[in-house]
Parts: sequence; structure tokens; C-alpha cells
Amino acid sequence: ERFAVWFRSDFRLKDQAALYHAIETVKHKDGEWFAFFHLDPAFTDEIDTHHDYFFQTLNHFRDSCSGKGIHLHIVYGELTDTLERIRDHVSGWSTVYFNRDDAGRNSVRDQKAREWFDEHSIEYFDYEDAHIHAPEEIKKQDGSHYKVFTPYSKAWGKKHKPDMYNIDEDALAEYQADLQPIHKQSETFFEEDLLDRCSMNWQALGACHAKDRLETFMDERLAYYKDERDIPERAGTSRLSPYLKTGVLSPRQVFHSAAARREDAGSGAETYINELAWRDFYYMIHYFYPDSKQKEITDKYQSLDWNDSDERFQMWIEGRTGYPIVDAGMRQLNETGWMHNRLRMITASFLTKDFHIAWRKGEEYFQKKLIDYDQSSNIGGWQWAASVGTDAVPYFRVFNPTTQGKRFDPDGTFIRKYVPELKNVPAKYIHEPSKMPEGTQEESGCIIGRNYPEPAVDHSTQRKKAIAMFKGDD
Ligand code: FAD
Repeated sequence: ERFAVWFRSDFRLKDQAALYHAIETVKHKDGEWFAFFHLDPAFTDEIDTHHDYFFQTLNHFRDSCSGKGIHLHIVYGELTDTLERIRDHVSGWSTVYFNRDDAGRNSVRDQKAREWFDEHSIEYFDYEDAHIHAPEEIKKQDGSHYKVFTPYSKAWGKKHKPDMYNIDEDALAEYQADLQPIHKQSETFFEEDLLDRCSMNWQALGACHAKDRLETFMDERLAYYKDERDIPERAGTSRLSPYLKTGVLSPRQVFHSAAARREDAGSGAETYINELAWRDFYYMIHYFYPDSKQKEITDKYQSLDWNDSDERFQMWIEGRTGYPIVDAGMRQLNETGWMHNRLRMITASFLTKDFHIAWRKGEEYFQKKLIDYDQSSNIGGWQWAASVGTDAVPYFRVFNPTTQGKRFDPDGTFIRKYVPELKNVPAKYIHEPSKMPEGTQEESGCIIGRNYPEPAVDHSTQRKKAIAMFKGDD
């Protein structure tokens, strides 16, 4: 009998639910197992930063598997063609194990796979692995789901946390089926064509780096997390999101690591753990509002009169709005594929409340660029910032980008790093460079209108217009 493990965004050999259960069964039944990854053509046409990072992580994982004598078969094609191909190739394939990806449009793929397995008498076992608590696990007493984070997080906090899965790593190679590659052409395509089209050279991929970063953060920064998490120029947050996204780390590993330091790290640990609850919250919301990528969760905001100026959108994308903290955030995203949380909030607020551009366009742009792109958290974050989601920031509380800059990057260290044309601007003007007298502009080598733009819009005017748009005033 042969058992498959279908790897998805769960590239690790430790604490992986589907892998754990598969290996235990294989040992018990003295069967054989094999690992595959389905490469979907929908993801290979245009390789943006997010896919670039994902494919390189996949490649790194495949290499680590090889190092342990395990072959990760890559099969390229439509889902059902891929499954047919595997069935034709692997005699005795009876069972498949996989971790669920059940929110939004991804649930359609999971459902299609389940139907195919049923039709072809392949037994399947699927698990919640990418989140600490599954959407259905935390409900109100009346059985409905939460819409507001604070009561959700209280219930989440009280719930017993799952332990880590202790995978018998020695058994992995021992019980592996001796198979020729399922589809050699797919593997050649991945190795020679797809990876070749990836343009960035990502560092620190894989489990060893993830473990290092996890431990260093927990040992050295967790205690300061509450105080430092909002300051973009400090290494105040864990930067574990790309590893969580690709499943190089499990949320259980991260949770238990923080929880074990509760006593020493105090409110730093509590605040951090609460962020993991946000991650589960947005996944839960996305699960119950599967079309929230397209639609505002709050019905009455589904037909707001957004502006569709391409020119403004382009300014935002390129970090040329004339608001230094916004521009620094967007440039951090464009250059590194990651953006600090405070800046995600500021740039999202700016796009929607200052430029009045639909949040969906921003969400899509982040999707292309973020190496930690997570559909549920991204939609959740955007609907929050645009005031159209559940438990979102109220529409009348509009972030002032200048004040935000002054508060979270007081002397402009972060701004100077990502907006080099402002490098020599005196601290007094770093958040409002257009107010520099002519002489200062010359001295600092930053002529407004030439080296750095005037503010594209006036914040206080745009704020009033945004509020009017939400109120439905003309
Ligand atoms: P830390 O502060 O170290 O937090 C630890 C972990 O908790 C993170 O890795 C993440 O998994 C989780 N987390 C933290 N804050 C949030 C949050 N607000 N919502 C959900 N989970 C959270 N996060 C993504 O992982 N992918 C996205 O695509 C994404 N898009 C966002 C878009 C917008 C507009 C906003 C406002 C937020 C978005 N976030 C997203 C949430 C948050 O910005 C990132 O998770 C965080 O910046 C990642 O950095 P970190 O690992 O250093 O976080």
C-alpha cells in the first residue's frame, strides 16, 4: 500500500500535521510513502516577487529533502490532470494526507481535490496545520462566529493550544517508496525554466535560518516587543511572516517558543501571542466571508465611489507621493518584498483615505510584492485600514501621514534609508520636506519639485472628502 503526502505551503519536516499522521500510519501498516507538490500553471505565468520567493523556498526545501534521502516529486498541470498522472504512475496508491487551505478561493481547490479522491477511491485525511485554531474551533456561545477581535482573542487565549507533532525523522527515508520521478518534464521545467525566471536572490531560506531567527528574536527581542514593534527602523518585530507563510515554521513552533518565555518576557510575550491570534482571526473571517477579496464585508460600503486615477496609483506604487513615511514604506516593499506592519497600515490608509483609491487595488499590489503574502491577513489588513471590514478602524479616524511619521520615525532614520534623496534633509523638515526654505533645499541637495515631489494631495482636504464619501455626502 502506498501513502502520499501532498505538500503545499508547509515546507518542513518537523511539526507538520499531514506528514506526522502519514508516517505513523505507514509504519503501523508497514506501507510506503511518497511526497509530491502540485505546481499549478495559474502561478507560473507571471512570476512576481511573492512567487519568486515561494519557488525558491520550495527549491530549498526540495534540496533539504534530498539531503535526507527523500524525493519531493513536483508535478505540473491542472489539479485533476496532476492527480491522474500520479495515479497512473504510482501503483498501490490508496491514501493521501494533506494540510487544509480552506479559506476564500483556495477552498475551491481543496474541495475539487476531495471530490477527485472520492471518485477514485483514494482515502484522504486533511488537517488544520497552518493555524493554531481552525475557524470552526472558536465560536460564540450561540454557535455563531466572532466578528470583533477582542472577544475572539479572549476565547482564543483560553483555549488549550495544540502540542507539536513529533515526527519520526528516521522513518522518512526508511519507508519511502522507491519511485522514478512521477513526471520528469515537470521537474525539469521547475529546475531549468521556472527557477531561471526567478530574478531575486533570496537569502536566509529554509528551516535552519528560520530556527535561528526564531531563537534570536525570542531570546533577545521578545521582552521589548510591546515597546518596539511600531518603530520601523528597529528590529522590533520577529520577521517570521515569510516562514509562516511558506510553512517553513509552524505557528505551533512560534507559539510555544513565545509561551515558554512568558515569565521572563512579560507583556512582550503576551502582545506577541496576541498577534498570532490576529492571524487566526483573519483566517476565520476569510473562511466565513469567502468572497471578501472582492467584496467589502460591511454591506453598506460595497458601492463607495472610489477614485480610479492611474496616475495617483502609480505615485503610491513607486513611493512618490510627497509624504516621506508613505514613500519609504512603499519603497521598502518594492526593494525587499516585506514591509513593516506600521507602514502597511500607513500606506494602506493613505491609498484609501488620501487618494480614495479602492482598497482592492492595494490588496492586489501587496499580493504581487509581499514575500509573506497571506490572502486572509492581507485582505483583513486592507479591509481594516479602509474601514470596510469587520472590526475595522472607524472611517472618521483617518491616519495623518505626517503625524505618523513624526511619531514612529522621529528623526527620519528609516525614511533616509529608503528615500535617499531626503538623506541630508534636516530632522526638522524630514516629515514635511516641502516646507524647507530654498536655501536649506540647496544645502541638503534636495530641491522640492525636482529631487523629491511636493505632496500629491493636501491631507486635511482629502481626509474631509474621505469622511464625506463614507457618509454618503456629495
Ligand atoms: P510580528 O510583529 O513579529 O508578528 C508575529 C506574527 O504574527 C507575524 O509573522 C504574523 O504571522 C502575525 N501577525 C502579526 N500582525 C498581524 C496582523 N495584523 N494580522 C495578521 N497576522 C499578524 N501579514 C501577513 O502575514 N501577510 C500579509 O499579506 C499581510 N498583509 C497585510 C496588509 C495590511 C494592509 C496590513 C495592515 C497588515 C498585513 N499583514 C500581513 C499583517 C502584518 O503586517 C504582518 O504579519 C507583519 O508585519 C509581519 O511581520 P513580522 O513577522 O515581523 O510580525
